[in-house]
Amino acid sequence: MKKNILDLTREELEQEVKPAFRAKQIYQWIYQKGAKSFEEMTNLPKAMRTELDEKFTIATPKILKVEQSRDGSKKYLLGLADGHTVESVLLPMKPEVRDNEGNIVKEAKYTVCVSSQVGCKVGCAFCLTAKGGFVRNLTPGEIVGQVLAIKEDNHIPANRRVNIVYMGMGEPLDNLENVAKAVKIFSDDHGLSISPRRQTISTSGLAPKIKKLGEMNLGVLLAISLHAVDDVLRQQLMPINKAYNIEAIMQAVRQFPIDQRKRVMFEYLVIKDVNDDLKAAKKLVKLLHGIKAKVNLIYFNPYPGSPFERPDEESVKRFQRYLLDHGILCTVRESKGLDISAACGQLREKSNACAI
Ligand code: SF4
Repeated sequence: MKKNILDLTREELEQEVKPAFRAKQIYQWIYQKGAKSFEEMTNLPKAMRTELDEKFTIATPKILKVEQSRDGSKKYLLGLADGHTVESVLLPMKPEVRDNEGNIVKEAKYTVCVSSQVGCKVGCAFCLTAKGGFVRNLTPGEIVGQVLAIKEDNHIPANRRVNIVYMGMGEPLDNLENVAKAVKIFSDDHGLSISPRRQTISTSGLAPKIKKLGEMNLGVLLAISLHAVDDVLRQQLMPINKAYNIEAIMQAVRQFPIDQRKRVMFEYLVIKDVNDDLKAAKKLVKLLHGIKAKVNLIYFNPYPGSPFERPDEESVKRFQRYLLDHGILCTVRESKGLDISAACGQLREKSNACAI
């Protein structure tokens, strides 16, 4: 069976093609010029192109469905080679700015949220992905391919950098080896050239893997899905807390190497009457003491059958104000994609239900 060339870091590709500079050329063709076949790689010898074609494919996931939100975010259902599906989301961060003559003065900025697994083992109570169970890890090429497919679909030029968040389906640290490879492939200077500082790995809090990721020193940013400030509630929302409680996560975070100018992001899903009061805000401030942190408050987005409700704007604002007043950087995630199925796993579930 042919291998997917997108699975290979440039160093690995150098083992396959000689001399080594050919790997750079192949990378440039795929990631910078959007080549779909080896035949297009006209600066490679014909024999090499034939040999590559016999050994490899350039396989990106197939777009099965797109839901566009009024705010411009787009949620993709992508089909993998073995028929499984994952989701990715394109989030426009800043619009393009043009001068009076219509020239682009500032390019549009995008973030792509990628999946790292088909399904997930973690089992968070608020997550639809969890309900489908775990199927398998994605390969590095399947992670990278999500970005290639989405850039192409949106006519985002191959050389335009996007930010990456590993925040789609799956727990990225449960597939650390392949995610680390994807980080390297994304950041390769001869490829997409997306610096690790533009890549955020979001975890439910697998403390030993946070430590391991830190030791790998990839230079990526870290986001923790904290969501609760006491172990009883967190265990209820995220059963993984039984294995790694809040204290264990905080210890791992304190040891994580982070760029001087950056912060560890703590995601806090605000759920009505569950974790939206000032008592919780106070505890959070205490918990983050001494950590260069930024808190991102996210409105819980209810789905059919969900036992939780969306919080009031007032309580979210009160929570945010408390954190800001206590010196903690805190943003509220805009309700991007609220009119589409925005919570992780929802598009896939709907599609399964519709048997698409
Ligand atoms: S929220 Fe993320 S970590 Fe939790 S079950 Fe869903 S996919 Fe897994």
